[in-house]
Amino acid sequence: MKDGIHPKYVDTTITCACGEVIHTRSTKENIRVEICSKCHPFFTGRQKLVDTGGRVDRFKKRFGIQ
Ligand SMILES: [Zn+2]
Repeated sequence: MKDGIHPKYVDTTITCACGEVIHTRSTKENIRVEICSKCHPFFTGRQKLVDTGGRVDRFKKRFGIQ
């Protein structure tokens, strides 16, 4: 029952609603999104939030925030 631990990564394309196509590797093929880094300026801000996610988690644990 451990088949899910090593998902198969394949070359895939992420197609955005704005027409931007990003080539990447993922466990899913032909992903479609509504926003991307090209059409949504806020996207870069999101990436920064992801990068500091560990700190946010520690902050939340310290103060008991779910
Ligand atoms: Zn886009």
